[in-house]
Amino acid sequence: MGGPWSVPIMNGLIFRMRHADRPISYLFSKTQGKFPKGGPVTIPIVPSGGVRSGSDVIQYMMMGGDAVQVCAQVILEGVQVAGRIQKEMGDWMTRKGYSKIDDFRGTARLLEAPQAASIPQWLPVVDKAKCTGCERCVKACPNVALSLHDKKAQLDERFCEGCRTCFYVCPVNAISLSE
Ligand code: SF4
Ligand code: SF4
Repeated sequence: MGGPWSVPIMNGLIFRMRHADRPISYLFSKTQGKFPKGGPVTIPIVPSGGVRSGSDVIQYMMMGGDAVQVCAQVILEGVQVAGRIQKEMGDWMTRKGYSKIDDFRGTARLLEAPQAASIPQWLPVVDKAKCTGCERCVKACPNVALSLHDKKAQLDERFCEGCRTCFYVCPVNAISLSE
């Protein structure tokens, strides 16, 4: 289930699909390491998850998305959500001086934040005694860093980015976070 929490995750995924020098570990693991040689993804990317406002759509476009999918917000607000989002995007584009989406599509860049080194890097720790093998964390991990072994969740630290999604979805609190 998408939501506001998924926007930064999707932003990272779209960005890395459009930039071959930042291979996305999810695709990397799914293709047995063959992905980075293929270069950036050139087919249309249609992100979904957490799209509630013009700001969300603009972020996905700046990362390199071609269109977006809106689902939950249509259920909550009705089909008029499309008009509201369009107006919010139009207002923002007017303020910024853009006349069309292609003027800012794919313009996001990585900044080397000087404070990044001080941000804690969390890694999930699975309490195997508590783990029921329900696989929720395995399915929720955006980087395929978790898999089931002997019916218990197991982490592959090479792929984990510390997003904490697994921590939040585990129904029996079998996952804790260690620094
Ligand atoms: S914190 Fe959990 S969900 Fe996030 S990348 Fe690591 S294993 Fe996957
Ligand atoms: S969500 Fe929790 S109980 Fe389910 S497999 Fe993952 S760690 Fe185990």
